[in-house]
Amino acid sequence: MDCRFKCFRFTAAALALCAVLLAGCTEVPAVSNPESSVSADSSAVTESSPEQEQDTLPAGSLSDWNLILLNPEPQNKIDEDLPLSFASFDGQKIDERIAAQYSQMVADAEKDGIHLFLRSGYRPVSLQKTYYESNINKYMQQGMTREEAEAKTREYYTEPGHSEHHSGLALDILTEEYQRDVYTLDDRFAQTDGYAWLIKHCTEYGFVLRYPEDKTDITQINYEPWHYRYVGTEHAAYMKEHGLCFEEYITLLQEAGR
Ligand SMILES: [Zn+2]
Repeated sequence: MDCRFKCFRFTAAALALCAVLLAGCTEVPAVSNPESSVSADSSAVTESSPEQEQDTLPAGSLSDWNLILLNPEPQNKIDEDLPLSFASFDGQKIDERIAAQYSQMVADAEKDGIHLFLRSGYRPVSLQKTYYESNINKYMQQGMTREEAEAKTREYYTEPGHSEHHSGLALDILTEEYQRDVYTLDDRFAQTDGYAWLIKHCTEYGFVLRYPEDKTDITQINYEPWHYRYVGTEHAAYMKEHGLCFEEYITLLQEAGR
């Protein structure tokens, strides 16, 4: 399906690793596991060991700027906005350290007739607070209690301090056509050519689909076909090869003592 992975060797060790990591997950969709149809390489099975498989983890430390983890877990948050420098696309700011990669992705998509549009990028903690509170108020005006409104809001809005958009590395990406004709961020974006292009190519530029449909029990965020996260090309390739979401990948790095 994706030529980048034709050389991927699905070893017994990798299978065992995936079985452990995927425990508790729901079904694995073909879209996030394009390598699942790749046949096993029997020679690799005898050559590889779990230790060697660990060694194939890309270089990197949990303290690296591109591996910051922000999610609904109490400890994975920031209290103050990060001291970032920015680049702008479509009126949105992103961390300038990923500007070249995003710009290249947009240019290459353009060559394939896909016009990417950056709907949302960096978001300071204060702005997330405004979005979060106004969404709660909207639900309360519809008759929900504060508790119900907060629960409903948390389905799509991360609590201020916990949103990945604070990192400047999270990008909500649509196509220009989708932005113009549909506008709403919903699952219909997954039916577009733009989404198909992003899923096929985003890892080549260091981005991953951050909230996959089959990982919502781990990410604690609903499926978001528009939300991509920069992690770097090597980490992104590893995650795609092994069908890992970011939380699972971070756990793997922690277990490897990174
Ligand atoms: Zn987003």
